[in-house]
Amino acid sequence: MEDNEAESSHVFDDKENLSPEKIFADILKSCEEYTTEKVEVLMLNKSKILSLLKTHRPLKMVDYFYGLTGNLLKNRCLIVFEWDDKRMVRHYYKHFTKHMWRCIKCKQLYNHNLVSTCSYLFMVNGIVFVPNNHECRPRDYEIVMQYQKFLEEGNPQLARSMVHTVNFDFGESSHAYVVI
Ligand SMILES: [Zn+2]
Repeated sequence: MEDNEAESSHVFDDKENLSPEKIFADILKSCEEYTTEKVEVLMLNKSKILSLLKTHRPLKMVDYFYGLTGNLLKNRCLIVFEWDDKRMVRHYYKHFTKHMWRCIKCKQLYNHNLVSTCSYLFMVNGIVFVPNNHECRPRDYEIVMQYQKFLEEGNPQLARSMVHTVNFDFGESSHAYVVI
């Protein structure tokens, strides 16, 4: 756990120097980049957002997009760029019954008892907040997009086969999907 925190704080150095108050002020300043809601609405949730900003970072709308799930469902899968490197993404899925979004890789590690906690994404007033710390490694954007392309083409079998043949972790695969 301590090792992971050290690694994460290294990755997240610049952002961690900012206080929740400063980040909140930045959100208000360029509110339209984060949400379609108005500043006044965000002010109503100020304390909730400040508390969230201790462990999560807010995303501008250009930093994430919706994908399809393996069952071709919309609006249940969010693909989020890493804040400092757009070659990497993380994949979040919305739970079917509970109102929560989980990082799919952290959830897998959690299911295999490899980690003790799971990372959650939150949405407040249309703003997406992602956890600063992950137990998992980010995924390769190109590979995730190939997976999404198969789903968009209505071919979940092909997408599923990628899960078994390709390592989605960034830097782990030499784009092996090309030969599929
Ligand atoms: Zn994760």
